[in-house]
Amino acid sequence: MEAAEPPSELVSEEGRNRKAVLCRRCGSRVLQPGTALFSRRQLFLPSMRKKPALASGGGPEGDLLQEHWLVEDMFTFENVGFTKDVGNIKFLVCADCEVGPIGWHCLDDKDSFYVALDRVSHE
Ligand SMILES: [Zn+2]
Repeated sequence: MEAAEPPSELVSEEGRNRKAVLCRRCGSRVLQPGTALFSRRQLFLPSMRKKPALASGGGPEGDLLQEHWLVEDMFTFENVGFTKDVGNIKFLVCADCEVGPIGWHCLDDKDSFYVALDRVSHE
């Protein structure tokens, strides 16, 4: 299982992603190696589903996730999609298959995009 991999195998000495970040479902590339910073922050992400269901708020089910890739500029992403705003939050979804959320973005902080390690695969 990808999730059992300890972060040290994924995180470089500079705290960046050693591997490319891919969509778990379709393999679409989200981030190139070395483009994101490892960041610990407790964020709630609704359960994975297709984008139309996410727009309604995602429902109460989900996960509190601690480990993320932090990206400061949305143009760093190879491919990413966004849900409609849910309050002041946008969730990141795969640009190709639209499954998510794989990450989290708050409109109050334009320079922080979080991608949850547990919601993506690494290659
Ligand atoms: Zn995908």
